[in-house]
Amino acid sequence: MPAIGPRVDTHLHLSRWWRDLPRTAYRADLDYTVAGLLAEMDRSGIGHGLVLQLHEAPSVTDGIAEAEGQFATSEGRLHPVSTVDPTKGPEEVRRALELWDRERGLAGIKLYPGYLSFYPHDARLAPVYEYAHRRGLPVLFHQGDTLDGLGLVKYARPIEVDEVAGRYRDVSFVLCHFGNPWMGEGAELVYKNENVYADTSGLLGHPSLPYFGRMIDQARHAIYEAIVTVGRPDRILYGSDWPLEELRIAVDLIDQLDLPEADRAAILGGNAHRLFRLDDAGSRVSAPS
Ligand SMILES: [Zn+2]
Repeated sequence: MPAIGPRVDTHLHLSRWWRDLPRTAYRADLDYTVAGLLAEMDRSGIGHGLVLQLHEAPSVTDGIAEAEGQFATSEGRLHPVSTVDPTKGPEEVRRALELWDRERGLAGIKLYPGYLSFYPHDARLAPVYEYAHRRGLPVLFHQGDTLDGLGLVKYARPIEVDEVAGRYRDVSFVLCHFGNPWMGEGAELVYKNENVYADTSGLLGHPSLPYFGRMIDQARHAIYEAIVTVGRPDRILYGSDWPLEELRIAVDLIDQLDLPEADRAAILGGNAHRLFRLDDAGSRVSAPS
């Protein structure tokens, strides 16, 4: 087995409920299994990954069961991030909190405004933020463009996160996809709020697009501009959105930034280790519930 690399991919999806893999994955014949993902992580020096559960899972229980299996078969390298749909009502949120309580290995909570019609400042989410505060769990928001035309991106603008970032100063929030296409707005949120982070995942289209090579250049430039706007590297997180993006290309977006090597290393792993407390993940898993 190769040495486990220091890098962390903070935005992966590995689920039997992923839609239309042959069309959406960066390669139609992708090995979409724990073994396939770990092999690709090893080739890019990525030691740990966060697997963001999907809102398409039939229930929170199903999503957690799938994640528990992945955590075990990856020998603790694939960390679960659970999700809940607040539009299903308070009973669904209450049930999610109960399940999360038993899930000591949980690394964070992902919410899907944009795909599901709610704003981050929706009052139905108050119990989720209070729970995240008690457990010290970061809350990740899907931001910006949606994979299909069914989403409503008005719910997924970084500016809509500002209110909760201010109200829950002790909770860390992550703007997935840096808020793309509102990356300037995302950078302002990270600049303004010490508890707001951003990830660099999912900024590229499908490799079959004729302008794909230019998209890589454009994404790298946009990431660089956003980080400079923030003014510091410590709340920027590398992520890929695999299987949408090839890990090698997603890592290269960061590795080739015109930044000091220590800053690139922080973005590629150090910041995530600190935020998600991955170095204590073993003890969190075995801690009595
Ligand atoms: Zn994603």
